[in-house]
Amino acid sequence: MSFQEIIGQETAKQLLQSSLRRQEISHAYIFSGPPGSGQMEMAMAFVQALFCTRGGDDACGECLECRKVLHGNHPDLFTIKPDGATIKIEQIRDLQRIFSYRSESGNPKAYIIDEAEKMTVQAANSLLKFLEEPPSPAVAILLSDNGRALLPTIQSRAQWVPFSPVNPETMLQILANEGFSTTLARSAVHLAAGLGPCRDLIQQNWFAEVRNVVLQLGKEIAGRGGSPLITAQQVLFKSGLTDHLDMLFSLFHLWFKDMIHALYHKHDQIVFIDELQFINQHCTSRSAEQWIEAMALAAESKKKLRQHMNANLCVEQFLIAVDGQR
Ligand SMILES: [Zn+2]
Repeated sequence: MSFQEIIGQETAKQLLQSSLRRQEISHAYIFSGPPGSGQMEMAMAFVQALFCTRGGDDACGECLECRKVLHGNHPDLFTIKPDGATIKIEQIRDLQRIFSYRSESGNPKAYIIDEAEKMTVQAANSLLKFLEEPPSPAVAILLSDNGRALLPTIQSRAQWVPFSPVNPETMLQILANEGFSTTLARSAVHLAAGLGPCRDLIQQNWFAEVRNVVLQLGKEIAGRGGSPLITAQQVLFKSGLTDHLDMLFSLFHLWFKDMIHALYHKHDQIVFIDELQFINQHCTSRSAEQWIEAMALAAESKKKLRQHMNANLCVEQFLIAVDGQR
């Protein structure tokens, strides 16, 4: 992974690349930002550029050092993740043991602590001493959803690198580059927080199936005939998809919103882009107010589900209410 390949997070990228250009590398960095904002990818790009024999402010991707980082077997790079719910003092002690030897290349060694806010107080205190006086040159990269939750003494010893939430358009672009189906990704980026959860969602078989059910029911609701109640009986209640009704209602919310986007000719905003023609033809079957009401009904149904209302009943009431709007 090179900086060039990373989409978005310009502030973080500029900060890190400028310190590479000036050859002023801090001994510690805190990457702080919302989950799924690509902190690990950025950390890997930074370490790779740091180790790359070509030098400069980005990795070449071809030299031996770069390839070792890419293959996850660089001897001077270590990653620590929570062991269970926390990062424990033993894990920091292991790190300190490994870092008591200098690297053979003469480069500083690097370590990445993922979910750094999960360090126990003992682990954090142990790390603090190590940050101040590493026995051999070292660069620490602490990744966190909430860097402000780290010990103030750690915060004050590290350079702050801010990450911003990735907007849906950027996530869509990244997922498309990774080869995911854009029709599924376009829905997922509005439903899951961050890239990781989006990838997980798209890879679930049920996600595409629930989406298809919403399309079928959504078209019937928009007046293409058929009976939504009977369809629900046939394709939903007898399937295993009833475990995912929360997602069903979230997708309905997006579907109704698409109708409003179409009414106002905001076609670039439409999520169910594979049904653009249908949406354009049927958006006028109701007023904008009615579509907004339908969105509210979907939101209300999600709430009822959380309050443990019977699942089938919840869907039936929703379908009857949406149908009765006209
Ligand atoms: Zn290289």
